[in-house]
Amino acid sequence: MFSFPYDQQRRRRSIQWKRALALSLLLLFVGLSCDPSLAASFGTHAVVGAALGYWLGQNPVYSFAIGLLSHALLDMMPHHDPVLTDRLDVGVFVAFNLGTLFTTAELWRSNDNDSRILWGAIGGMLPDLEHILFFKACGGFALCEKKSYPSHNGLLPHPGNAPLLVGYALEIGACYLTINLAF
Ligand SMILES: [Zn+2]
Repeated sequence: MFSFPYDQQRRRRSIQWKRALALSLLLLFVGLSCDPSLAASFGTHAVVGAALGYWLGQNPVYSFAIGLLSHALLDMMPHHDPVLTDRLDVGVFVAFNLGTLFTTAELWRSNDNDSRILWGAIGGMLPDLEHILFFKACGGFALCEKKSYPSHNGLLPHPGNAPLLVGYALEIGACYLTINLAF
């Protein structure tokens, strides 16, 4: 029976687990988008973290740290947090996040599954997980002083009430700029 040389088999296995990890994260964040008050746009955090992590990171650890830092910069940028009772608002938010997560996956795939892209994206999205960890303590997904990430506990500004078009234009601008810088 035909078998791959050892190196090729190892490469295949590592691509498979990376794909599985990326898919799990994607599903996790798509699931989280059921309550969109959770985050500005985790898809934007993923794209910008991935691009900056690839551009500035010498290895996956640096890329992860760069992703984490980029989260604060994006949270401080004026953006539009959707109003939960507004179906259209929520629909736009979910669609925007699906599009930006797909973009992140494409950037990763078309650059030989470079691990700096993956870890930059993970670092970019990770801080928003604490919205779940502190769900009870904060009475929901709201920003509150019990959280530890500086743009979630009031230490840094979090202007999430920009008009819809302005907010998404700024997020698209951030994605476009960082992708152009990095690739
Ligand atoms: Zn955040």
